[in-house]
Amino acid sequence: MNAETAPAPAIPRVILGISSCLLGQAVRFDGNHKYNGYIAETLGQVFEFRPFCPEMAIGLGVPRPPIRLVTGPDGLRARGVDDPARDVTAPLAEYALQVAGQLEGVSGYLFKKGSPSCGMERVSCFDEEGLPISGDGAGIFARTLMARCPELPVEEEGRLMDPVLRENFIERVFIYQRWQALCRDGLTAAGLVDFHTRHKFNLLAHDEPAYRALGRRVAEAGKGDIATPGRDYIRAVMTALKKPATPGTHTNVLQHIYGFLKDRLDGEGRGELLDCFEQYRLGQIPLIVPVTLLRHHLRRHPDGYIERQYYLNPHPHELMLRNLIWPSAWINAGA
Ligand code: SF4
Repeated sequence: MNAETAPAPAIPRVILGISSCLLGQAVRFDGNHKYNGYIAETLGQVFEFRPFCPEMAIGLGVPRPPIRLVTGPDGLRARGVDDPARDVTAPLAEYALQVAGQLEGVSGYLFKKGSPSCGMERVSCFDEEGLPISGDGAGIFARTLMARCPELPVEEEGRLMDPVLRENFIERVFIYQRWQALCRDGLTAAGLVDFHTRHKFNLLAHDEPAYRALGRRVAEAGKGDIATPGRDYIRAVMTALKKPATPGTHTNVLQHIYGFLKDRLDGEGRGELLDCFEQYRLGQIPLIVPVTLLRHHLRRHPDGYIERQYYLNPHPHELMLRNLIWPSAWINAGA
C-alpha cells in the first residue's frame, strides 16, 4: 500500500460531557427523558458524548420525588419539593467535583436547561415557603462543575438552538480541544506562541483588546514556569471567545486577511472580494460565502501565515455553521 492508497489517519472524535436525559436516557424524576434530536443526530456526527446524570449518581433513583432550588439563610440549596427537609445540595456538589476530575479529554459540556441539578443559568428559585422568588439560579451540579473548570466550554441545550450561541460554543470547543492536545504533548513557551498566533483571527473576531492583551501575556510567558501562565492564558482566551463575534468584527477580520492577498489579485478579484465582504456586513449573505471566496483565492495564491490560521477552517463542514444571514434588525442595532 503506497501513501496515495493508504487510508487517512483517523481523526480523534471530540468528546462532550452531557446531561444523560438529552441523549434519550430515561433518567428524569418522572421516568422520562428529554431527547434532543439536534444534539444526538447532528452534533452526534462529529462529537462523542459522555453522559452524566447527577441525580441518578447520588442514588435518587427513577422515579423519584422532584427537587428544586431553595434560597434561604444557608444560601442556595437543592431540596425536595414535597419534603423540604431532604437536602441533596452536598451530594450533588461532591459528585460535580468527582466528575470534574474525570474530564481529561472532554472538550465541552452540554447541560439540560432549567434543572435544579444541571441548569446552567436562569433556573427557578423558591423561598422556604415554596413561593417562586427568582429565575436566576444555577443547578448545584452545573455551578459546581463550572466553578471547578472555568475554562471548559459549556452551553445549555435550549440556548444551543440559537445559531449564534451554537456557533460560539462549537468554536470554543474546537479551540479548547486543540489546547488540550497541546498540553498533552507538553506545553512549552514556543507552543504557546504558536497557539496564540494560529488563533489570532478567531480572537480578533470576538475581542480585539483581549487579543492584544493576551499577546503581551504570551510574550512574558517564556521567562519562567509555563504551567501557571498557560492556565491563566486559556482561561482568558475562553472568556474572550464568549464575547459574540458580529458581522462588523468578522468583516474586520476578512479585511485583515484580504490585506495579505490583495497584491496578488487583479482589479476584478479585489473588487469581487470587497463587494462580497460588504454584502456580508449588510446581512445579505452568510459568512461562509466570503470565507469560501477567500479560501478559493488562497488556493491559487498560497500564503503560509494565513493557511495556518484556524479562522478559515474552524470546525467540520458537517455542522453547517457560518450559514446564518444576520437579521437586519441586529445589524441596525450595531452588531
Ligand atoms: S437534568 Fe440532569 S439530573 Fe435531571 S435527569 Fe437530566 S441529567 Fe439527570
